Amino acid sequence: MIIFKSICLCYSARYHVAEPGIPQPLNQFLKVRDNCMRLIIVGGVAGGATAAARARRLCEDAEIILFERGEYVSYANCGLPYYIGRKIKERDELFVTTPERLERRYRIDVRTCQEVVHIDPEQKTVQVRNLETDEVVVEPYDRLILAPGARAMKPPIPGIDQGNIFHLKDVNDTDRVKAFVSGHSVASALIVGGGFIGLETAENLARLGIAVTVVEMLPQLLPQLDYDMAVHVHQHLREQKVKLILGQAVKRFDHQAGRITAVTDRDTDIHVDMVIVSAGIQPERELAEGAGLTIGETGGIYVDEHMNTSDGTIWAVGDAIETTDFVSGRKTRIPLAGPANRQGRAAADNAMGRKDALGGLLGTSIVKTFDIVAASTGMTEKCLKDEGLPYRTSFTHSLHHAGYYPDATMVSIKLLFAPDTGKILGAQVTGKNGVDKRIDVLAVAIYAGMTVYDLQELQLAYAPQFGSAKDAVNIAGYVAANMLKGDVQVRHWHELEQMDSHDYLLLDVRSTMEVRKEGVIPGAQNIDIDELRDHLDELDKTKTIIAYCTVSMRAYLACRILTQKGFRASILSGGWMTWLPIQQDREAQQQP
Ligand code: FAD
Repeated sequence: MIIFKSICLCYSARYHVAEPGIPQPLNQFLKVRDNCMRLIIVGGVAGGATAAARARRLCEDAEIILFERGEYVSYANCGLPYYIGRKIKERDELFVTTPERLERRYRIDVRTCQEVVHIDPEQKTVQVRNLETDEVVVEPYDRLILAPGARAMKPPIPGIDQGNIFHLKDVNDTDRVKAFVSGHSVASALIVGGGFIGLETAENLARLGIAVTVVEMLPQLLPQLDYDMAVHVHQHLREQKVKLILGQAVKRFDHQAGRITAVTDRDTDIHVDMVIVSAGIQPERELAEGAGLTIGETGGIYVDEHMNTSDGTIWAVGDAIETTDFVSGRKTRIPLAGPANRQGRAAADNAMGRKDALGGLLGTSIVKTFDIVAASTGMTEKCLKDEGLPYRTSFTHSLHHAGYYPDATMVSIKLLFAPDTGKILGAQVTGKNGVDKRIDVLAVAIYAGMTVYDLQELQLAYAPQFGSAKDAVNIAGYVAANMLKGDVQVRHWHELEQMDSHDYLLLDVRSTMEVRKEGVIPGAQNIDIDELRDHLDELDKTKTIIAYCTVSMRAYLACRILTQKGFRASILSGGWMTWLPIQQDREAQQQP
């Protein structure tokens, strides 16, 4: 028995309509249906709309009903920040399709502004509230796909519910932000949260001439990167005059005369005209919980490799579910559009009687903010450490296309690989150009179970505009393979800090001119690589020599010379280009 106070309870017109206000037992209204399978889908954006279209392609005869709580279906979440920044000029461009088009082309019964509020798995029914009329109807299903996504996290910060504080999760949020920045003279904005949505929003607000501050409670932006790669993004944002306040959480918002003061847990006051809270998301799992479906250990809806929940006739996809990490096999949540689409397709296949199994997810992601691009695939060093998995790391910096061709820029790769087999476990790439191509190659390499030795062999397209005869990915493979073969020993920037400086000699093999212009790592001795062979007798054989240059390419040659002459030598992985941004970041973080 279901009781709703002061709302009209009726069952779908297709079956029986109950007397308004009179609750009725469900069974008496359920008619044995025709031989037509009825698929209900909850949520009409990335996962839900994909599932609906796929289901129709597989079965012309099924009745497919898609319920969407909001006004819109199948829109480009990922484009929302760019509409605010006027890169996407027309609001209509955000809509991949419309309910009318889904109905016309796919014969999908799309019901917007209708929220599924309860699932009864025994009766195989859902209760749906019409958000315009407050009417509740009960709809039977044969198969049910849940694609309810996730909601923006709203940290319990005093003052967060008052004016000028926004989220950016859907079209309505975007309209609100857009109306505010268009209708007011907004000079300054605070972004709470340094994830990819926060940073895309920072760029787009800055493009409107707004001074932007980003506050992040972790000591770094973009948690899908390790700190030593995130510093490239920090540096670029500071160059763009975005103020970063890292390692601090907002504890209070004070409102006065339309302005906001955000106060952090280290008592930093940030005065702004508006705030966008982009502090993560929470899976929309309440519907599944209410239906008694299993919730996974990470808080997402449990599904198996067929996207099947703990109920054989209910599938779930997208930001709401728990999935499996491809590399570690551990449970995780990966709220990205690609996986949601792929899962929507798989869920539809399975709901329509096919068998489609998905493997674990790599979480391949990419973000651009201003002119820097940062991408990641597989596991980070942080995660490998947390999981206690053995790994080795290499840093390489290569030009994104041939150096002799104009406008070559640096692309930095951090590679994580198994110390025994060389199997690639994860990769991160940053740079201004060519990041997308490298991360995609590396994602495929991980998916295919390749090793660093395979990276050396990859036959990638080359012409001077696009790459180099030895592509950045090949170079990453060479360096990592050299490490595993014992051709070169490496030290990392953080190891330098842990070692007793009396035990090693830091050798800078760049030219004197470069050193004069750029400086050296404190304590380093400079001998130009071209002169090293003539100065070997000046070096202390009792000490380990750690050589570096700009990217540690010349340092590698230095090591080869030194080890063959009886020295203990290693390179500083990634050289000056890995070491310097970390020091600069630390200095910037010290400044008030
Ligand atoms: P959604 O697309 O969020 O759809 C869920 C829908 O279900 C919602 O419309 C909701 O109203 C509806 N719903 C929920 N509960 C109910 C209910 N009970 N009844 C009816 N309807 C319900 N990912 C990337 O990979 N790359 C990017 O560049 C990127 N940029 C992004 C930028 C922004 C601003 C945002 C917000 C997200 C971005 N994402 C990006 C993430 C990506 O959009 C999501 O991972 C993806 O949309 C998840 O798909 P989904 O179907 O699970 O959920």
